[in-house]
This record gives sequence, C-alpha cells and structure tokens, in this order.
Amino acid sequence: MRTLIILPLFCLAFVSKAQQTTHPHVHDRVIHFPDVANYQTILCDFHQHTVFSDGSVWPDIRVQEAVRDSVDMISLTEHLEYQPHGADIPHPDRNRSYELASRLARPYDLLVVNGAEITRSMPPGHNNAIFIKDANKLIISDSIDVFREANRQGAFVFWNHPNWIAQRRDGMATMTPTHEFLVAEGLLHGIEVVNDLTYSEEALQLALDHNLTIMATSDIHGLVDWQYNVAEGGHRPVTLVFAEAKTEEAVKEALFERRTVAWYDNTLIGREEHLMPLLEACIQIDAAEYIGPSSIAKVTLYNDSDAEFLLLNRSDYSFHENADVIVLAPNATTTINVKTEKVLAKFDLRFQVLNALTAPEEFPTIILPVNTVE
Ligand code: ZN
Repeated sequence: MRTLIILPLFCLAFVSKAQQTTHPHVHDRVIHFPDVANYQTILCDFHQHTVFSDGSVWPDIRVQEAVRDSVDMISLTEHLEYQPHGADIPHPDRNRSYELASRLARPYDLLVVNGAEITRSMPPGHNNAIFIKDANKLIISDSIDVFREANRQGAFVFWNHPNWIAQRRDGMATMTPTHEFLVAEGLLHGIEVVNDLTYSEEALQLALDHNLTIMATSDIHGLVDWQYNVAEGGHRPVTLVFAEAKTEEAVKEALFERRTVAWYDNTLIGREEHLMPLLEACIQIDAAEYIGPSSIAKVTLYNDSDAEFLLLNRSDYSFHENADVIVLAPNATTTINVKTEKVLAKFDLRFQVLNALTAPEEFPTIILPVNTVE
C-alpha cells in the first residue's frame, strides 16, 4: 500500500487541494489504467473497420485515434466476405489495411497486429482472427475450415457481438452446437462481452462457463470521437490485457491465458483473479491521520485510473460526512472521515465496487488496510 512518504512533493500540494471530493474533473481523452503486480496493463482495441471493408475512414485515421486515446495495440479487422466499397476501392490483397496501418503507426508507441473478421451467418456468426499471418488464406467457404486455417496461422480467435440483434433477435448471447464444437476443438478462444455500445451479461456468463477470454472492442466503423462522445468525457471500450511486456508475443500469450478486463462505459468487467489486482492498483490509501483529539480518522484515497469508482461502504465503521456511497473521481484524491470510535493504529476499510463486475450481478469487494501511524 502506498504511503504519503513515498509520494513526490508535487503530489502533496495536490492532496491538500483536492479535499473537496466533488471538484469538477477535467477530462483528458488519454485512457489511463495502472500496471498491476507482475504485469503491464496493455490497452487494446482488436475490432475496427476502415474503407477496406465497411468502415468510413482510411487506416491512418484509426492510427491517429488510437494515438490520441493512448491505446497500445490495435487490429483492423476487415470483413473477409463483406466488401461494400469493393467497386470503388478494389484491393485484391486482404492484408492491405494492416500493412498501411502498421507503417503509419511506426512513428508512434502503437502496435498494429494483423487481423480479419470471418463474417458468416449464425452459426458461427462473426468472429475475429487476430495475430494472423495472411488474411488472403482465410478466404475459405467452409465455416469450420476457416477457423482451422486461422489457428494454423497461430491466431487468437474470438466471437464477435454474440448478442447482435441482427443475428440474435432477443439480444441474448447463446452457445450453439457449432460454437461448442469450436471451443472443444480449441479453435475459438474468446468472446466479446462488450461490443461497441452494448454489454452482454449472457456473454460474460458464457465466457466464465466455457473458459473463454473476456473481450471488449469498439467495432468502430465511423469516428471514435462521435460514437463515444469523447468531447463530453466518453471513451471507447477497450480490453485491458495483463502482459509480461508490451510486445505482440506477450499480449498474445496473455490473451490465450485469459488475463483481461473489459473497460466499458465506466465499468470494469473481468474474472476475479484479474479484476482484483487491477482494483488494488487503482485505489490506494494516500494518507490517514486522526483529527485533533477525536476518534475520527481522516483518510485520503487516491484513484490512479480513469474509472470514476462508485464504492458502497461495507466496513465496520460509518462516516462523519458521507453516506455509505462514495464516488472516487478519476485520477484524483478523495478524503473521507471515518468514525472508528477508538483511536486505532490500523483498521480496514471495505468497499463493494459498484462499477465493477466479476460475474453477472457480482460486484467485488476490496479491502483497504489503513495505517494511521507514521
Ligand atoms: Zn466488425
């Protein structure tokens, strides 16, 4: 747990200034989450389109958007079988979008991986194959053989928008025998729990039941700024991948090991084993001391992330100023006064995080050990 002592001096000034918990937050579009114990947190958006399939922009715009959002890794996953701009922009090489984007990304701290969207009716619906070697070789009519070829190329394959109403009228993500077969054969590895503006509780349950990697993607066709109201403080969905390094190889390994959390509409969604270390890295105790001769502890929390956390008090104590729901502004400190009845050298604060999910309707509880001496 971070203590005040190790904070650089400029933070001390910031701590005392930010004691009003409701001060307005100036939005910065860069997406920020801290690294976790043992892993780097890599921001990824592995489902995007350009004019090379049914998107509205050239690949350079996707690169510029990612740079502005501080996304670390992207894939332009053009539809293999759906080419509505084909008459205007003929391109026999299905790797062209990737080649352009990876060249355009070179001056930046952005990695582009080759990918394609296998675009079929349900089942198997739409699926992305990323980390592929050659998209042209995926133009295969048989719906199972195309998965085999993607896997032969070493791809990580995930099921796109299983809740898409064009293919699932009730919006309920449901496994089909084809998907069960693909998972059993090791040909399908992940599932979009978040796609664009949708979150699927059923897809989250499928990920947990079938050991699939939890994915969140923008599936952007137009502009990220417009689709997610970035100017108003919105953000695109991204998959946070916990990798040993910011390399293609390490991120791919992490995806196969299911080390992800979805970031969507101010909500974090992930398996407990991956979400808890992230929450612990995001929410820290900065300082704690008793007020004068009282038994009220003034505790300063620091939120080192873009999430505006909504915390429900599950501690043994009540607060002197707040009711039981605390809002932690992003990238800022928040001070609460805790009535511990006796002066304690150490005590625990416990909060249920209401904008985080480890399973449908499961909000995790974090424990923050508070140390009032030093
Ligand atoms: Zn798509």
